[in-house]
Amino acid sequence: MTHSQPAIAFDPVQAQTVVQALRDCLDPAGLLTGDDIGARYLTDWSGEPGQMPLAVARPSTTEQVAAVLKVCTAHSWPVVPQGGLTGLAGGAVPAQHAVALSLDRMSGIEAIDTANATLTVLAGTPLQTIQEAAEGAGFFFPLDLGARGSCQIGGNIGTNAGGNRVIRYGMTRDLVLGLEVVLPDGTVLSMMNKMIKNNAGPDLKGLFIGTEGTLGVVTRAVLRLHPGVKGANTALVAVSDFDAVIKLLRHAQQQLSGRVSAFEVMWSDYYRCATTAGGIRAPLPSDYPIYVLMDMQGSEPEASAPLFESVLEHALAQGWALDAAVAQSHADTLAFWALRDSIGEMLKTFAPTINFDVSFPISLMGEGVERLRQIMDTQFPGIQAMYFGHVGDGNVHIVVGPLPDDARKTEHAIEDAFYQVTAALEGSVSAEHGIGLHKKPYLHYSRTPEELALIRTLKQAIDPKGIMNPGKILSM
Ligand SMILES: Cc1cc2nc3c(=O)[nH]c(=O)nc-3n(C[C@H](O)[C@H](O)[C@H](O)COP(=O)(O)OP(=O)(O)OC[C@H]3O[C@@H](n4cnc5c(N)ncnc54)[C@H](O)[C@@H]3O)c2cc1C
Repeated sequence: MTHSQPAIAFDPVQAQTVVQALRDCLDPAGLLTGDDIGARYLTDWSGEPGQMPLAVARPSTTEQVAAVLKVCTAHSWPVVPQGGLTGLAGGAVPAQHAVALSLDRMSGIEAIDTANATLTVLAGTPLQTIQEAAEGAGFFFPLDLGARGSCQIGGNIGTNAGGNRVIRYGMTRDLVLGLEVVLPDGTVLSMMNKMIKNNAGPDLKGLFIGTEGTLGVVTRAVLRLHPGVKGANTALVAVSDFDAVIKLLRHAQQQLSGRVSAFEVMWSDYYRCATTAGGIRAPLPSDYPIYVLMDMQGSEPEASAPLFESVLEHALAQGWALDAAVAQSHADTLAFWALRDSIGEMLKTFAPTINFDVSFPISLMGEGVERLRQIMDTQFPGIQAMYFGHVGDGNVHIVVGPLPDDARKTEHAIEDAFYQVTAALEGSVSAEHGIGLHKKPYLHYSRTPEELALIRTLKQAIDPKGIMNPGKILSM
């Protein structure tokens, strides 16, 4: 669905000058124009229809990124950084005539430093490649999400991605020790810090994490590795209501000494879709109200099994859990996770959808979901909604769809109603996907006027010509 992008005053003569200047600073494979621009550069997974960029720049070095940005600054020409284009908020979708700057040729692991437990990587490297490299070296890189095979670490940093393991290891921000960033004027800012502690003044790299390519282009990163894990104890638990979900979460965290590494919740509507339309095997019957996918990764899953199972037994005895299936093999673990990862397929099946990514204080999540459900039942009967999320972090996703023919009007009405609930319960309009284009009209529900003013001041200071991803997060 179309969301407003800033219109670019298009001067064909100047456009040709920009293209020629880009051609001069890139090798032949580094610039796509006209019919050579593939459809994949026009949109992401948000469903936002793409507009034709003037060119797609595909630099292969930091110096080339700097040269591209210098050209765009000289001509006040907008630039849209693109990673793996799996974003769900439209952040990487180009405005018409903008220059799309794709990092897809800047891929590769530069170094794994076992003494410092760090991994140095180019920004265009797919997340899964990083996970596998860390594992090969005996470490663990905990950032994990369904789009792992396609999303890039630069995009993960741009969105401050969360995912499945936040409950134990934090967001992307907590896994980034150092960055190299190119500023809009082409200045290369090297902040390739390898230390966990570094309070030598403000944390400048933090400015480029979660700011969706509006302040600069991330070209390299130093990532923090964690000790390797050998496997996981995994269970799928059917739970009676949301109060029981919280009791299970807190009990498991206490008994397992903070080692719970995922606590994903699927309400029955999601579980039913995953096991019917999604075609995933159902390990438990599909008529329970709520399902929790819980795992505890560690170095000795077999030795930890009795403790893990004692948590489930306690939950069953207390009546919080109604049923439970414990994975008996790695294949079982993968099958349980397939339920949660099937969201990628479901987004395609139910398109056009609205994808909500809200957060609430955990104690208010049950009430939040009930209020949203009531809105759907009373105001939008007949439109399907599926509720699931990284509930251990207070994050619930809602996929609403397919939308009727008047999709844009319905979308607005549902968004308005949902985000008012988010505001009333002091939640956030974006827990992890970012603001991009889709949540821009609702940012004020989660940020005060003073915060919005400071965001504008920072943007003005770093990008005075406003060339970096204009129209995303905020209109300036
Ligand atoms: C099936 C599926 C499951 C998902 N699950 C999760 C999840 O659990 N948690 C979660 O947080 N997200 C999830 N997402 C959303 C998405 O995968 C993440 O937002 C991801 O971090 C985006 O990475 P990307 O490389 O695809 O970025 P893109 O979509 O290409 O870009 C995202 C934003 O980052 C900016 N950007 C990209 N590269 C750079 C760079 N090098 N420098 C500066 N800015 C840059 C872009 O301009 C844009 O604003 C999911 C998506 C799908 C399709």
